[in-house]
Amino acid sequence: MVAPRLEVNLDKIHHNAQELIKRLAERDISIAGVTKASLGSIEIADTLIRAGVAELADSRIENIKVMYASAKDGLTKSVPMILIRSPMLSQIEQVVMYADISCNTEIKVIERLSAEAIRQKSIHEILLMIELGDLREGIMPDELVNFAKEVLTMPNIRLKGIGTNLACRSGVTPSNANMTVLSNLANKIEATLGVKLDIVSGGNSANIEWALGNDKTDFGRINHLRLGESILLGCEALERKPIKGLYTDAFTLFAEVIESKLKPTQAKGAIAQAAFGNVVPVLDHGIVQQIILALGVHDIDPSGLTASKGSLIVGSSSDHLILEQLEGNPVIGDEIEFQLDYGALLRAMTSPYVEKIFLRQLIQPSLHY
Ligand SMILES: *Cc1c(COP(=O)(O)O)cnc(C)c1O
Repeated sequence: MVAPRLEVNLDKIHHNAQELIKRLAERDISIAGVTKASLGSIEIADTLIRAGVAELADSRIENIKVMYASAKDGLTKSVPMILIRSPMLSQIEQVVMYADISCNTEIKVIERLSAEAIRQKSIHEILLMIELGDLREGIMPDELVNFAKEVLTMPNIRLKGIGTNLACRSGVTPSNANMTVLSNLANKIEATLGVKLDIVSGGNSANIEWALGNDKTDFGRINHLRLGESILLGCEALERKPIKGLYTDAFTLFAEVIESKLKPTQAKGAIAQAAFGNVVPVLDHGIVQQIILALGVHDIDPSGLTASKGSLIVGSSSDHLILEQLEGNPVIGDEIEFQLDYGALLRAMTSPYVEKIFLRQLIQPSLHY
């Protein structure tokens, strides 16, 4: 089989998406399936649509364009597409063309979206993102009403709703307190400006604990979440805890052994920097079975890999991953398998060196309980 290879179990992703959609629907919260880790994969987009996501959301217009084209070709059904990173001025034309909705924080950008929507004779919908403490994108809360008022004057722009994004830059935890602030802002805009907001989007996979953890949580106006990691990897994003009843192993990476030798654990010679910076000294523990895989920083983020039992990752460079074999003795040509975190998954999906294989097989025993 070709290696390195990422095997993607679409039935597990379908199960995860369907479960989260069902549990959150009981709380009147709808889901946008976030595809940014999957490079616009038609297979994954189609799986999320079949599971029932309300929209697809991606940070890159390039990915949205691919999914838009496949919907047009009848390869996937169509749902609205949300661009979840603020549009670049240099991509305004494509944003209006391919995204139905975009997330915004700058008047200048929305003015350009308006002008372009007039030119394309279309209506572009926007979500205004609010800064609630994580210090990534967002309009400051006390500027929101004036900002929204100005947006409402812009032709061919429709204010679809507001949203926030926490836990990405600073790790700020979604809570009843900050979600209430968002709810109150939605009420304030509606009361002051006489509009109705369809979407109040509370956040990402870091909101899972807040949304599902406590039956008594008052969700206020929050009726929408944008979920990527929790669907794809079956874990919430604050402490990466597995979500009950979801698969955490929809993705498996396989890499091939190209060297297997007994080697010392202690490097020899004067030590300076290695390929990617400083080396953490290893404790000398004698001679070990060291294997090298044809896999490196070109393909994955080594820090985000978990090797299967019996193997320990001890080093990496652009094209090599070095393992210490604790049990078993793999020979040249054998494959070692890994689970990936979100960063490693994203890198593997976007690397042209990693073959992607899509599978449909639901294996009950690996369901996490
Ligand atoms: C990445 C991202 C998401 C999805 O985050 P997950 O942790 O994968 O659920 C949602 N919203 C925005 C703005 C994002 O950038």
